[in-house]
Amino acid sequence: AHLARIDAVDEKVHAFLHVDREGALAQARAVDAKKAAGEKLGPLAGVPLALKDIFTTKDMPTTVGSKILEGWIPPYDATLTKKLKAADVVILGKTNMDEFAMGSSTENSAYGPTGNPWDLTRIPGGSGGGSSAALASYEAPLAIGTDTGGSIRQPAAVTGTVGVKPTYGGVSRYGMVAFSSSLDQGGPCARTVLDAALLHEVIAGHDPMDSTSIDAPVPPVVEAARSGSVEGMRIGVVKQFAGEGYQAGVVQRFNESVELLKSLGATIVELDCPSFDLALSAYYLIAPSECSSNLARFDAMRYGLRVGDDGTRSAEDVTALTREAGFGDEVKRRVILGTYALSSGYYDAYYGSAQKVRTLITQDFERAFEQGSGVDVIVSPTTPTTAFSIGERADDPMAMYLADLCTIPTNLAGNSAMSLPCGLAPEDGLPVGLQIIAPAMKDDRLYKVGAAVE
Ligand code: GLN
Repeated sequence: AHLARIDAVDEKVHAFLHVDREGALAQARAVDAKKAAGEKLGPLAGVPLALKDIFTTKDMPTTVGSKILEGWIPPYDATLTKKLKAADVVILGKTNMDEFAMGSSTENSAYGPTGNPWDLTRIPGGSGGGSSAALASYEAPLAIGTDTGGSIRQPAAVTGTVGVKPTYGGVSRYGMVAFSSSLDQGGPCARTVLDAALLHEVIAGHDPMDSTSIDAPVPPVVEAARSGSVEGMRIGVVKQFAGEGYQAGVVQRFNESVELLKSLGATIVELDCPSFDLALSAYYLIAPSECSSNLARFDAMRYGLRVGDDGTRSAEDVTALTREAGFGDEVKRRVILGTYALSSGYYDAYYGSAQKVRTLITQDFERAFEQGSGVDVIVSPTTPTTAFSIGERADDPMAMYLADLCTIPTNLAGNSAMSLPCGLAPEDGLPVGLQIIAPAMKDDRLYKVGAAVE
């Protein structure tokens, strides 16, 4: 049924870069056979899923939305891919994304934009716009995203779906193509909080193949999603997540959500997190710096595209020609910014300062969540505005970067956050996202609160 749905709508939506028809049917039949043999199956056995094209898949191409990896079929499965297969989840295919996950609209994909199913002339968010669009268009009931600065939550918000950025280290990064290694985190996307929790439980957990993976039990997310409640909780509202640039309808729906939380028995606490105002600036130094280092591996020798290798050119020239042809403008912009920020003489002023700001942001969160006097979770709008039009911010990187104003502090601090729908903005009828933020390894609180207000 989902393959038929893809056939019917994906020409318009363009959520998928690759559909693995045969593979999906074979997986589904294998589940049927297990069922017929009376084997005990997990809760997601046979459920179809759309996988962001940033996770390696042994039997399918992995492009990361870039021409530089066109045609590359990885020799191994990411840990997350393996876990999905082990849980008998049916992988329908790979979804469109901004090139190397750099963007907030999926317009930076080398393979063309994805449309927002609510209005195909609008962006579905980014970088994981293919995954969120697949959910909103009913092409898949489950999807996987990655969130470096908001790429799970922002697409979820603008498509009226649920997306969770787990605690950094909660889901393995092994086989997830690196953008900014200290920020990147894979996570679940779904149409309901409980579905997201079930998927979270399948993909999370310690992985010895990822040195930053946390060696501790997975927070009890499914149990929390089944017992949604905010009774007696202290919930923070951050002063800095408001003001200029926030659309009136977004603010209205957010305020209504706060009222709902109060009526369900939560106490609302106003918080001052002064360093949050610097988060965007710090992020746009740290993420490009790490990407300039990570993307050095795309040297035309190891993977994918190779341009100009005609026997007359040096390896350096082939590398340069391949990068010129294979990387898009946004990737080049970030590599140049990052290389500059890391170069000797500028390191202290840019990268070094950004790292200090990162510590201050972490301390703002620590103060907010302090045992005893602090809050249990923080809530905010996920994005300052609803989905903007395709092309509207394409030539203005600064306007594009603002889409992640509320999501970035969490990545810098490494804690967990969810976006879930909280109604439609009256002025444009488009979905608004409510963000819930919890401390590190308290991801279960996201689900408990999310399920209560869903
Ligand atoms: N939009 C942000 C960026 O362009 C975040 C991307 C992400 O989370 N992968 O970097």
